[in-house]
Parts: sequence; structure tokens; C-alpha cells
Amino acid sequence: MKIGMDLHGVLDGMLCTKVRSSEKSALWLLFVRQMVHSGHEVHLISGPTRSQIIGELVELNIDSNEFTDIFSVVDYLKDHGAKMWQDPPDSGRWFTDDSVWWATKGEIAKDLELDIMFDDSQQYAEAMPENVKFVLVK
Ligand SMILES: [Mg+2]
Repeated sequence: MKIGMDLHGVLDGMLCTKVRSSEKSALWLLFVRQMVHSGHEVHLISGPTRSQIIGELVELNIDSNEFTDIFSVVDYLKDHGAKMWQDPPDSGRWFTDDSVWWATKGEIAKDLELDIMFDDSQQYAEAMPENVKFVLVK
């Protein structure tokens, strides 16, 4: 099975109140370990650049090698020549048109041939390929 997992709001255990739930984060990490150990693929798919994602994992005390691979929406868009900008300038916070942004995880899911995607943003569900089970995490 090929599994996609979001970082912010899922793996990081961050509740909508922005208070981190270590227990939720630990539960997801246990799930990742068990699935990878059982021969499944777990891909972390998040918005920031790959290096920013890895930096955030370090802050969460999570080894990036726990995952089969890590994918960045920003890196994917840059590789595909999308019009992007930083706001504020030189901040490292990249933006593109909303419709392009929300469609990108679906394109990554298609490329990876994911079976299931765990995410806390319903907007990503619209562009998921039909054969990908989208699980909204709240
Ligand atoms: Mg999220």
C-alpha cells in the first residue's frame, strides 16, 4: 500500500488551537513505523521546501528516514515552472495561485500512485485522483 501523509495538522499533532499534541504526533509516528516495517510506503507530503520540512522534523525529534520519501509542494511547483512568489519577500514562504496550490498534492499523489492520503485540509481532496482514498484528519 502507498500512503501519503501531511505534516502540518497531521503528523505534527497540531490542533486547530496551534497547541501541539505530542500524543497525537506519537500515534502517527507509530503508524508510520508499523506500516513501513510491514513493507508499505509512507510518503510525507507537505507545503514547504524539502529542506524546510526536514528542519521541522528535526524540531519534532522525528528522523526523516522514518518515511519512504518526502515530497514538497513548493519544490514540485518550482520543478514544473509554476509562477511563484515569496511573501514577505525573501522570507522563504512561497506562494502561488490557490487553484494551482490545492491541485498539487493531487498531482503528487497521482505520480506516486498513492492508495490513501491523510490530510487536514479538505481543499486538497478536490484534486485527488479518483482511486486515492482521501482521509480528512481533524
Ligand atoms: Mg495540513
